[in-house]
Amino acid sequence: MADDFAADVLICGAGAAGLTLAIDLARQGASFRLIEKLDDPFRGSRGKGIQPRTQEVFENLGILNKVVAAGGLYPKQREYRDDGSYADSDVVVAEPPTPDEPYHQPLMVPQFLTEQVMRERLTELGHRPEFGCELLGFSQNEEGVTARLATKNGEETLRVRWLAGADGGQSFVRHTLEIGFPGKTLGVRAIVADVTLSGLSRDVWHRFGEGDMERQISVCPLAGTNLFQIQGPIPLVAEIDLSAEGLTNLFAARTGKSDIVVHAVS
Ligand SMILES: Cc1cc2nc3c(=O)[nH]c(=O)nc-3n(C[C@H](O)[C@H](O)[C@H](O)COP(=O)(O)OP(=O)(O)OC[C@H]3O[C@@H](n4cnc5c(N)ncnc54)[C@H](O)[C@@H]3O)c2cc1C
Repeated sequence: MADDFAADVLICGAGAAGLTLAIDLARQGASFRLIEKLDDPFRGSRGKGIQPRTQEVFENLGILNKVVAAGGLYPKQREYRDDGSYADSDVVVAEPPTPDEPYHQPLMVPQFLTEQVMRERLTELGHRPEFGCELLGFSQNEEGVTARLATKNGEETLRVRWLAGADGGQSFVRHTLEIGFPGKTLGVRAIVADVTLSGLSRDVWHRFGEGDMERQISVCPLAGTNLFQIQGPIPLVAEIDLSAEGLTNLFAARTGKSDIVVHAVS
């Protein structure tokens, strides 16, 4: 009996990779479903640097202008010395564009804004991610894949020609297929937090204790928002208080400054 496919492609994961594939399939008129286990879009800023090559992909997807409008350029970075003095420098050395590299500067766009622009593009093409829908398991044969999903309305089994695992670094699809991920683990643990705070200006990327893993902490104003992104290494095993008060205390401990106050953690 011929297979009865619910769609050509099931895309597992509606992050940057899944949305990219979905936009590309949508504009080619392919049939697909894009599922995401989170109930709502991811809210973190983590991938805030849109590299030149990514900008070329975004131009191709028809979203570069909107991504540019959503964010901005990197400010200068300000490295503070222990005596309170500081030095400003460019984060990236500006170089002229070339035919091979038409976009020559990274943009700063918090990842949640980039993904919002991508979802809007997908909506223009008549599709949207299915949030609250998790891939629980799958099996495959020569013709296609049978996938088991947990949806808001209960479990669902569907048959597709292809399954695309766009489910991130810990990929369930990759683990199930026992595909390796060669590389090395750096043995560094860090926090990334998006916050509102007072006591620091928004015109530079503030960097304290550079090179000292116990004191290093940086605060970057996030273009297109009123938020700052805090980044800093933390001990491999310690409990870290990520509340506004806890982060305020972390600043005081690392910088000696008590006038940097975190008001809310996004
Ligand atoms: C601190 C930090 C800073 C970074 N800075 C940059 C930067 O400056 N520039 C840059 O380009 N990149 C940066 N990155 C990397 C960037 O964030 C990732 O490359 C990007 O998020 C990868 O996208 P993805 O779609 O592959 O995976 P993800 O963004 O992880 O998305 C995968 C999605 O799959 C979903 N999912 C997982 N399992 C299932 C399942 N079983 N069923 C359904 N859905 C599932 C997850 O909920 C998730 O939403 C940074 C990353 C970090 C952590």
